[in-house]
Formats: sequence, C-alpha cells, structure tokens
Amino acid sequence: MHIYFTFISFILGLVLASFLNALLYRIDNGYKYPEIFIKGSHCEKCAKQLTAYELIPIVSFLIFKGKCSKCGYKVPIYYPLSELILGISLASIYYHSLSPLFYLLVLFFFAFSYFDRIYKGIPQVLVNVFLLASAGYFFIRVILIDGIPENSLIAVILLSGVVLLLGKIFKKPFGIGDILVLIGLGFIFPLNYFLGFLYVFLILSSLSSVFLVMLKKASFKSSIPLLPFMYCSLGILFLFNEKIIEILESIFFL
Ligand SMILES: [Zn+2]
Repeated sequence: MHIYFTFISFILGLVLASFLNALLYRIDNGYKYPEIFIKGSHCEKCAKQLTAYELIPIVSFLIFKGKCSKCGYKVPIYYPLSELILGISLASIYYHSLSPLFYLLVLFFFAFSYFDRIYKGIPQVLVNVFLLASAGYFFIRVILIDGIPENSLIAVILLSGVVLLLGKIFKKPFGIGDILVLIGLGFIFPLNYFLGFLYVFLILSSLSSVFLVMLKKASFKSSIPLLPFMYCSLGILFLFNEKIIEILESIFFL
C-alpha cells in the first residue's frame, strides 16, 4: 500500500508541475483572471492549441521528441525535467514520511527555479513571502517548544559570509536573492539536512558547469542561474534522504 501511494504521489507531482508551469507562464506573461485558469495551453511560438495528447507530463515530450507538432519549436528540456523533479520530490517526501512542510518547501523552489531560469533572478515578492513564512514557522516552533528549534541558520550565515567574500575577491557577485532563499531554508532545515542539501548542490552545480562548458553552452565566466540547481538538489536530497545524511554524518561526525 505504501508503494501504491508513493506512485500516486509521483503522478500527482508530475501533473501538478505541468499545471504550475503553465500557471507561472501565464502569470509571467500578464494573463488576466479568469484566462489564467481556463485558457487552453498552446505552443509558445506558433500559438497552436495543444491537444490532450500533447499535454501528458514527460510522456508527450518523449513522444513528440520535445518539439511542437506544428512549427517544430523545441520545447525547453527544463519543462519535463522540472516535472520529473516535482514528481520525485513528492513521492520521496511521502515514502520517507518526511515533514509535510517539505511539500510546501519544494513548491516554493519550483517557482523560484522557474523565474530564475528565465530572468536570472526571483520576483522580490516571492522571496518575501518565503522568508516571512519560514521565519513565521520558526517562531511558532519557538513558542510551542519553549526553546530554539533545530535550524541551520549559523551554517547559512557562515556560508553567506564565505560566498560574499569570494564574490568580492573574484568580482563575481552572488545573487542576493540566492542568499535570501538560503536564509529561509536555514529557518526550516536542521543542520544535517542543510549540509546534505549543500553537498548535493555543490556536486550537481559544479558537474553541470563543467558539462555546459564542455558543450560550449557556457564559459566559466558566464553566470548560471542557481535556483534550478537548488530545486533539483532538494529533490535528490529527499530521494536519497537517509543515505546522504549518513554520508554527511560520517564526514562531519555529527
Ligand atoms: Zn508551435
């Protein structure tokens, strides 16, 4: 039964991601209510209405080889990947019985990732809501347990200091939005989760950078949006949960 519901969570994640990608696209492109919800999905280039067959998360992308069936527009690989990650995340959070709060967390990162990929930045209002929510959650727990709940704020502050310093030395400013997002995460994640997240993120982002440079899609000087990597790292952290935490604990003697 547990596996059955895990699978349902995975499918729900795919469908939800597909819906959210369309919703964020419409919000971003100035659609008005009620069009935001009722207008059928269409190709971003030729505006062809998409049929039900073309809207199945991941499957349609594979069948149509990632292209619009009318104009041949190449659908960014980002879409099926972001859907897959949300599916994996929801399934993993359910499977490992992790905090239900993580469902919300991963949705925030889904949205951050969407905007960061396009604009190399996140809307300020979204960051503010996330910071308020995570700080609010932290202080509610302070009252409930009458003490300081587990958090990783000190690690985040140390990391931010190092990152800002490196940014000054290499004259490559790190996005302030990225740091604010990490602070929000510091309110929520216990230290072992934060280190696990950072561990996956560092491996993932450096491997991808090398890969992109090898494919000549980027140079070491170009700035790559980090939030999609953070979003993906969350998914991997939730998926391999205990294994990653174990590795980290053996490294840091936590
Ligand atoms: Zn098209």
